Amino acid sequence: MFAIDFGKPKNEVVVGIDLGTTNSLVAAMGPSAPYIIPGPDGDPLVPSVVTALPNGDFLVGNPARRALVTHPKLTVYSAKRLMGRGAADIAEERKLLPFKLGEGSESVIQIELGTRTFTPPVISGIILRRLKQNAEEHLGEPVTKAVITVPAYFNDAQRQATKDAGRIAGLEVLRLVNEPTAAALAYGLDKRKEGIVAVYDLGGGTFDISILRLQDGIFEVLATGGDTRLGGDDIDNLMLRVALEDIASEWGEDLSRNQEAVQLLRRAVIEAKHALSVLPRTNIVFEYKERRYARELTRDVFNRLVMPIVERTLAPCRQAMADAGVTPEQIDEVVLVGGSTRVPLLREAVERLFRAKPHCELNPDQVVALGAAVQASILSGQQTDKLLLDVTPLSLGIETMGGLVSRIIQRNSTIPASATESFTTAVEGQTNVLIHVVQGEREMVKDCRSLARFDLKGIDPMPAGFPRSEVRFLIDANGILQVSAREQRTGKEQSVEVKPSYGLSDDQVEAMILESIERAEDDFAERQVREMRVEADNVMQAVEKAKQSDAWFERPEDERERVNRALNELLVVYHGDDHNLIRVKIEALDEATRPLAETIMNTAVNHALKGTKI
Ligand code: ADP
Ligand code: MG
Repeated sequence: MFAIDFGKPKNEVVVGIDLGTTNSLVAAMGPSAPYIIPGPDGDPLVPSVVTALPNGDFLVGNPARRALVTHPKLTVYSAKRLMGRGAADIAEERKLLPFKLGEGSESVIQIELGTRTFTPPVISGIILRRLKQNAEEHLGEPVTKAVITVPAYFNDAQRQATKDAGRIAGLEVLRLVNEPTAAALAYGLDKRKEGIVAVYDLGGGTFDISILRLQDGIFEVLATGGDTRLGGDDIDNLMLRVALEDIASEWGEDLSRNQEAVQLLRRAVIEAKHALSVLPRTNIVFEYKERRYARELTRDVFNRLVMPIVERTLAPCRQAMADAGVTPEQIDEVVLVGGSTRVPLLREAVERLFRAKPHCELNPDQVVALGAAVQASILSGQQTDKLLLDVTPLSLGIETMGGLVSRIIQRNSTIPASATESFTTAVEGQTNVLIHVVQGEREMVKDCRSLARFDLKGIDPMPAGFPRSEVRFLIDANGILQVSAREQRTGKEQSVEVKPSYGLSDDQVEAMILESIERAEDDFAERQVREMRVEADNVMQAVEKAKQSDAWFERPEDERERVNRALNELLVVYHGDDHNLIRVKIEALDEATRPLAETIMNTAVNHALKGTKI
């Protein structure tokens, strides 16, 4: 008798993909560490460029980048800038990108290449398909699952578009991971118990700064910032301008309008730029139509050229720290991401700003993909010692003005998870805030499940809108939710712990989700009315207050009557269910009180001026 050994079932590989604006790449988990999968030409970077050839084929990556010179009208780059955006929000892109952008039905953006049109997810899908093929060739097995990274600031539509691109490429997207989180994972920073991490990412055409808080293996994005039009391309353009001027004076010929020459010269300056990251001096060498131009460039001269670009990245960094409420001293780790962070001057500036030596042991243009591969291997079950991240079945939030729900953790968020939101008080002199924790997908508190209530007491009385309470939700790996609220000025803090899944069966969860879908339209309408009523409350309160000021009695009789009439008309429609009508009446009241508001402003200014001594 023989026992047949079937062996252990082999887990399918899940790859990690960095779908970049300039370059994309794919990585997988090796026996001990993640590694980048090279393309057939040996180059691991696949430029995010696609050419739609007239015969129906596509060029992707390096060949497409070369086609920018030969087939500019059939070639598209920077498609990531268009992902998930409506025709209305790409006015800026339209001006700067050379290819034609049309508008399909429901304001879907269409990229026109020759006679064919493509949506941004289709273009990204073509890039992803190439990465998938590269991985399959390298691994010798089919690849159908992936983790893809996205910028931390990507909204829901942009994330959805990225998932669509994956589907188009024949990839099941197991998870989207924030690029800064992936970078931190690549450095194994999740092994720290807690800390604050700054991720500085300067790529080809975008600059992103993210401040993350790490606690028990969970990354929370505290703040993001940056500049969507700043990157290595700007350095290239500066060098190009210098070289073109140089050539013009040497050859007596202005090449700046010669597309082909400019593209070739661009490649030469980029090469020199890359060399200067490791060498103190190099040559820009350019040969064109039997003529040769060569110019030595030292790192000193290069530094002077890029200094303004380095400086432009620092203000968003300071702003992000301010938004996150942290000082440079509180930042424990700094991670450099993006090819452009190889520039030594920039590394020095970052180190000075954050007062910490930045991580740059890994290739900065590979760290995001490497981190995606780490997450991928966790999800594929390849790493059993690691926590398998789970998701929350229903959204969690708190009650806000007007009986509305403000969601803090969305349904399907991976757990452990945490999120923080700031709220203010709506009532003058309020000294306590009731925190009502709810669960569910509906817009109104009355339609959700109530989990807990607690009072944040002892706030100093302040004018409405003054106190700032920070409410923090934290779900641990066991699904226990901890809610804490803190009034920032007084430092008063309160918290509760609940188990949101307690007493809920899978059927009930499903029923709650179904109900929210069925009632979505009604809920939305009701939310609009309630939000408008909250706004009306605020406006009426402000007007009532203004009516007690001296300025009110200085206004002419007929104007005061107009204000009272507008106030009454708003009151009449207030309880109706037409939010548009309430808005119209709010606007009318605003209009009627404009001269009054101006008088109050002027009085305040005069008052302030009187107080100053010159
Ligand atoms: P993205 O995230 O926008 O897709 P990458 O992170 O791949 O972009 O960065 C691409 C940029 O990095 C390009 O502008 C490239 O010229 C620049 N870069 C790559 N290597 C170097 C280097 N050694 N020195 C300076 N810049 C570099
Ligand atoms: Mg990038």
